[in-house]
Amino acid sequence: MKNIIFIAPPAAGKGTQSDLLVKKYGYNHISMGDILRKEASKKSEIGKEVDEILKSGNLVSDEVILKLTEKILTGTSEPYIFDGFPRNMSQAKILEETLVKFNKTKPIVIYLNVNKEEAIKRATGRLNCPKCGKIYHKYSEELKPQIEGKCDECQVDLISRDDDNEETFKTRYENYIKKTLPLLDYFKSANDLYVIDNPIFPMEIFAKIEEIIK
Ligand SMILES: [Zn+2]
Repeated sequence: MKNIIFIAPPAAGKGTQSDLLVKKYGYNHISMGDILRKEASKKSEIGKEVDEILKSGNLVSDEVILKLTEKILTGTSEPYIFDGFPRNMSQAKILEETLVKFNKTKPIVIYLNVNKEEAIKRATGRLNCPKCGKIYHKYSEELKPQIEGKCDECQVDLISRDDDNEETFKTRYENYIKKTLPLLDYFKSANDLYVIDNPIFPMEIFAKIEEIIK
């Protein structure tokens, strides 16, 4: 199995696809967002910095990212998925150098090409289980919970993430267009890049991803 970097606008389905890959193929899911939110909940210096940046929808500094990347790559076995990382050119360079430093296999890049309207609809409909982390969507037939507002597995109340409100979403989306999207050119030459256009149905997308990783 190949290591993967997902590139996609916020709420495009990276988390859902990652869950499927973890379940079926035993991938290690490295969500930089989850790692940052965990840091932010600690009351340390770095935690406070991260907390403020996340609330504004902006990107975390390179020093923080470098420290976290080294920690992640030394502590994670292959195959792995990077979800929400790298987000800009300097993060991509940090990742490339860290991979070389720790002698790790280069990941392929899968780009989920979702338009802005669809991404906003998904972001505002997204629900998370606070206990197991499973992701649901109010507006998706395939991904809504069996009982409204409850996790299918844990039966606890689902919550929306703080950074999924529309204002923060717009900042994250603009950051994505300005800083993340230009990475595609870089990945086209530095890694193997695969594009999935208009990804709508999770199981169809998953079938395409399975063909790519084998
Ligand atoms: Zn749950």
